[in-house]
Amino acid sequence: MKHLFTNRFGGVSHPPCDSFNLALHVGDNSLHVEQNRDILKKQIGVSSILFMNQLHGDIVECVDESTTTPSCDAMITNVKDLALCVMVADCIPVLLFDKVRNVIGVAHAGRTGSFLHIGQKTVQKMLDNYGSCVEDISIFMGPSIRSCCYEVSKEIVGGFESYLTCRDEKCFLDLQTLNRDDFLKIGILPKNIMIEPTCNCCDKRFFSYRRDGVTGRFCGIIALEQDR
Ligand SMILES: [Zn+2]
Repeated sequence: MKHLFTNRFGGVSHPPCDSFNLALHVGDNSLHVEQNRDILKKQIGVSSILFMNQLHGDIVECVDESTTTPSCDAMITNVKDLALCVMVADCIPVLLFDKVRNVIGVAHAGRTGSFLHIGQKTVQKMLDNYGSCVEDISIFMGPSIRSCCYEVSKEIVGGFESYLTCRDEKCFLDLQTLNRDDFLKIGILPKNIMIEPTCNCCDKRFFSYRRDGVTGRFCGIIALEQDR
């Protein structure tokens, strides 16, 4: 398995999407986005990459070579030479890998998706569709907005108040711990959950919608090794 999280450098897009923007829906020149996606393809070393039309929902799709840009927020596959990509600019890019059954997945865990337990639903689909065992699955959460920056209004977190930290009348949500707890609850082992400590809103090497408004998207990408 190979995986990586991109940052904003190494692409061809112009401001405000400079330079490694991977999203077609943010007003960037589509030719530049396609060039960036070709660069990404070379970096991950596969023939094709599947992107999602992300909707902030909880739909998980099982995909293969014949799938074209599914409308969903998570997808899983056991097909080799097909990379799965999740685009973000604050939401958590979640990568999943079952090392025994050789199954990979990606999930787009923003606030809405996290509240809908998108991570657990992705794991469940790996168990149901590929016979994965939960103790074989590893989770990688990439750079995303953390509680230093993620101010939310108290009214919108119904049921998830335990993940709020409030100070000086302001409340901040900890999406990473929420997702970690969800994965633990479904049986993922603590040693198999990796969380990138970077807050993309603090760290200007990454795009951040919260910080910049109109901007690009970076990504998490994962692929199975090809047979030799
Ligand atoms: Zn921050």
